[in-house]
Parts: sequence; structure tokens; C-alpha cells
Amino acid sequence: MYVTRLDKPGQKVRLDDISPDAPKGLSREEAQARLAQLGEELFELQDLLYGARTHGVLVVLQGRDTAGKDGVIKHVVGCLNPRGVSVVSFGVPTPEEQGHDFLWRVHRHAPRKGEFAIFNRSHYEDVLVVRVHGLVPRALWRERYGHIKDFEELLAEHGTIVLKYFLHISKKEQEERLREREQDPQTAWKLAVTDWKEREHWRAYTEAYEEAISRCAAEHAPWLVVPANTKWFRNLAVAESLVEALRPYKQAWRKVLEAEARVRITELRRYRRERGARS
Ligand code: AMP
Ligand code: MG
Repeated sequence: MYVTRLDKPGQKVRLDDISPDAPKGLSREEAQARLAQLGEELFELQDLLYGARTHGVLVVLQGRDTAGKDGVIKHVVGCLNPRGVSVVSFGVPTPEEQGHDFLWRVHRHAPRKGEFAIFNRSHYEDVLVVRVHGLVPRALWRERYGHIKDFEELLAEHGTIVLKYFLHISKKEQEERLREREQDPQTAWKLAVTDWKEREHWRAYTEAYEEAISRCAAEHAPWLVVPANTKWFRNLAVAESLVEALRPYKQAWRKVLEAEARVRITELRRYRRERGARS
């Protein structure tokens, strides 16, 4: 309810028309209480997913510097059982990665059935930072929208539930966060000169994001634009949309578990019968 869902290919999006602010009328305390409930539900859903092994979940986290990708990992992904989650961060490609196609480093981290994979940045960087800085010829990155769509379709066909988050902050909020980080020795280590340099390309990133979101929106791999100017609201909105996306599978996963349980119990009973007959 709090996020803007884009799931129709080619559906236009204007980020400036979507508010990055938390809606009025919700207090931080209410949001935190609700997040705790959602965290429990998420944990239960994960248990069903893990047992049923019919689906995997891929959560892509994208956003500008300081948008809160790490915060979401800490506060939302932190609700999950680590047994079934992998978190992968994608930075500047290594020479080994650069020697391959852009999906090579990404595909091998796609989730196994039963598990979650969380991408902190992703294959989308190859149509974002790469586009903004012209790191490869235009003709090459333009082809990538199609490759990304095919890739995500492949994952979805294999039972992967794909959810792509854009954590939406304003330019002013980013400046405040960068300045705050500078004041605090506990967070200043996160700073990089590039954070300020990238800010100068704010508009170009907006355009790159709008095109990536629009072209790669799909029913089986929706984009979710999350108002992220307020951290506690951002966490709630991500958790809620994640739970809402997984809830429809609950009954089916339960049924798989129940069928599996019947098989195991039958095996156990047969074993006991045969053992009794021998003795
Ligand atoms: P951080 O997320 O702060 O650890 O920074 C990772 C950096 O890696 C960001 O500046 C990204 O823009 C950059 N990065 C990620 N993927 C790529 C890519 N495919 N090509 C170039 N730079 C990238
Ligand atoms: Mg950074």
C-alpha cells in the first residue's frame, strides 16, 4: 500500500512525481510495532519456502548512495533465518568479472529453491552507473535491457520470485545524510568522494533509473518504488511489500509440506511394521 508497484513492460514512470516522504499519520512507534509483526510473518513464510523448495526469492536493492540499501538489509533482511539467505554486494567489477558478460557474476548468486538471495546493487548497475559514465559504448548498454528482461524471465520460469526495489530519496535528504555521516566517526568510514561526485549526475541517474524501471518492469519481476526519506518508514514499506508478495504462496507451500509429511510418516510406519514382523 505504501509502495508504487510497476509491473507492466514499458509503463512510464516519473520519479519526481513520486513522493520520497513518508505519508502523514503514521508514528515511528506504530511503524516499529508493525515491522516487528511483519518480521515474524516473514520468518514463518521463509520456513514454508525453505521446506517446500518450490520457489526461491530474489530481492534486488537499488538506490542512490545513502538511500538505505544497507539499512534494509539490517532491519528487514535481519528478520530472516540466516540459514536460508545469502546477501551479495556488487561493486566495481573485478578484471575477472570484466572479462565476462555482465550477467556472469550475477547469475551464479541467483537463489536456490527454498532460499532468499538479496542483491545489494545488481545487474542494473550495468544500465545505471555504466550508462551515466559511458563505461561501455551506448549500443552495448542499450542491448542490456533486453538481456535483463530475458534473464529475469528465466529466473521466474525456474520458480524465482523476483522483487526489485528502488529506494527513493530526495537530493536534499541525501545531502543531509552525507553531512551527518561526516560528523560521526562511527559512520564516516562509509563515505567516498564518489558519493559527492555522483550527486552531480543526479538528473542523469534519474533518467537512467526511469528507463531501467520502465523497460524492465514485468508482472513476474515488478519494480517497487519505496519512499525512503524516512528510515523507519522505508523499512516498514519494504517489509510489508515483501510479505504481501509472498503471502499468496502460503497455502501452496503448506500443501507441499503436508504432502511431504504424509510420505515421511508412511515410510516410518512401513519401517516399523517390517521391523516388527522380523522380530
Ligand atoms: P558501494 O555500494 O558503496 O559499496 O559502492 C559500490 C560501487 O560500485 C558503486 O559506486 C557502484 O556504482 C559501483 N558499481 C557497481 N556495479 C558496477 C558496474 N557494473 N560497473 C561499474 N561500477 C559498478
Ligand atoms: Mg557507497
